Amino acid sequence: MLIDYHTHHERCGHASGKLEDYVRRAIGLGYSQLGLSDHLPLLHVDPDRYYPEMAMPLSELPRYVEECLELREKYRGSIEIRVGLEADYIEGYEEEIARVLEPYPWDYLIGSVHFLGEWDITDFRQTAGWEGRDPLEVYRAYYRAVKRSAATGMYDIIGHMDVVKRFGFGPDTEEGRAEARELALDALRGIAASGAAMELNASGLTKPCKEMFPAPYLLREARALGIPLTLGSDAHDPAKLGEGLDAARAQLREIGFTELAVFEGRRRSAVPL
Ligand SMILES: [Zn+2]
Ligand SMILES: [Zn+2]
Repeated sequence: MLIDYHTHHERCGHASGKLEDYVRRAIGLGYSQLGLSDHLPLLHVDPDRYYPEMAMPLSELPRYVEECLELREKYRGSIEIRVGLEADYIEGYEEEIARVLEPYPWDYLIGSVHFLGEWDITDFRQTAGWEGRDPLEVYRAYYRAVKRSAATGMYDIIGHMDVVKRFGFGPDTEEGRAEARELALDALRGIAASGAAMELNASGLTKPCKEMFPAPYLLREARALGIPLTLGSDAHDPAKLGEGLDAARAQLREIGFTELAVFEGRRRSAVPL
């Protein structure tokens, strides 16, 4: 079954296309389900003083959800639309995040770690943050946050769980790399214990790391741990909807997955891969 559970659109300021453009594209590609999952508005930094074009303003969130719901009705019968959000996990802001998310009828929430404090480790404008830091310290802080995000129980899907590798920064000794792998595996065990699903996010293929999120060794371990997997292209342009997902499906099959996790009203079910 063809699905894409990780998509953005122009409201966030750094993606193009309207929500409906993604819906039409998904129908054109023969998708059964499309998950709309734009970024949570910035809650822990002052949006007026931070890097621009990170996320929709908080005042837009009601309208975003309303538009998603309208599209879900409009295209009923052609495609199943799922209303979601890629909701940052920010340590120390759990209550505020929960309060902002609470009023809406989400189908699913993706919990993603982008921020370590005020540093967005996934933003290409902020890669100077690695300078003068011990990369292993960054990995330790990142995977601790991933583990905590799963433990909150606030999220249905853990997003791009090893995205800390995105720009190719990391430990440069064999010992350091071994520790980084163990940190990722430990976070994965935390995800398994939480009962959350995880995405295979194909967007890493076109990033400096040239590898999906997460890496194959983590997918194999996820399979062994019984973590349900879903798929996301992380498209920021309607033309890129589903990009890399053929390869993602092939990889999951090769590892032994036969099903994908899907969500409706925050209840998980499985569809054939
Ligand atoms: Zn984005
Ligand atoms: Zn993300």
